[in-house]
Amino acid sequence: MTLLEVRGLSKAFAIRAGGFTRHWARVVDDVSFSLNAGETLGLVGESGCGKTTLARCILRIAEPTAGEIVFDGTDLVKLSRGALRARRSELAIVYQNPYLSLSPRLSVHDLVAEPLVTHTPLRGAALTARVIELLQAVGLSADDLRKRARQLSGGQAQRVAIARALALRPKLIVLDEPTSALDVSVQAQVLNLLVKLQRDYGLTYLFISHNLDVVQHMADRILVMYLGRVAESGPSAAVFSMPRHPYTLALLAATPEPDPTRPAPDIALEGNVPSPLGPPTGCRFHPRCSWAQDRCKAETPALRSMRAGHLSACHFAEALPGG
Ligand code: SF4
Repeated sequence: MTLLEVRGLSKAFAIRAGGFTRHWARVVDDVSFSLNAGETLGLVGESGCGKTTLARCILRIAEPTAGEIVFDGTDLVKLSRGALRARRSELAIVYQNPYLSLSPRLSVHDLVAEPLVTHTPLRGAALTARVIELLQAVGLSADDLRKRARQLSGGQAQRVAIARALALRPKLIVLDEPTSALDVSVQAQVLNLLVKLQRDYGLTYLFISHNLDVVQHMADRILVMYLGRVAESGPSAAVFSMPRHPYTLALLAATPEPDPTRPAPDIALEGNVPSPLGPPTGCRFHPRCSWAQDRCKAETPALRSMRAGHLSACHFAEALPGG
């Protein structure tokens, strides 16, 4: 069953000078995808590709400029502020750095209790019992109730952030680089916890990461973004075994331990993602693409179906290595 369907979502920021809007930066540009209940969609791309802005629009932390966000049958874009507040508990987010996302003034008890106090009638002993239940679900205990975030290890603090996200029994959790600020030694523990919680609570995840090895471990489906647009999407197994976009190939080639069974062209990502203020003409990836031809500078490639839900926005997708 589809839980989330995003259609034609765009987000542009006005660049003002001298009191007038001089330019529009289209950070997310006509993005569409769907996510089934109980699944994980991995959202990948370099910094500046629009991943986090897309997630913020879905959570309505940022206002989309155009498009629809149909969540469990309701277009969130059309909801009034009051109606949106009533649905807020169904969506949650876990940020990259728990020490920045958790208030240093609050105890673990108060951090986890805060959404419960705001959205439910739970108080007193019943509230504390629910907080302890949530802490136990993420591998912590009642012994941690009085601690502050700074007294916890990075892994423990991120578990508190996850318990807080779970508090209102959300249907969808956005995980924004949830392990990239943690020691390598605890990353796998937190990822395994997220997999267990998804199984136990039937959660749906939008998993943002620049680490393709982590995404491969977590995601059922992949969405690769480049400069605000979808470059490639599809089932995780298909995208990782036979990538159909040069950008995906370059990201995979840049992983610390590339899979020897998938195509390994000699391709390196050089330079940075261009500014969305003046994106390249035609295919936005053409200044960095080893396969670029004249057509790529003039003609924007459509997102085309390769096979069974595997889409690519490259004019020459069929001719890439491994095809
Ligand atoms: Fe490269 Fe052209 Fe494909 Fe864009 S359309 S990814 S520039 S080959």
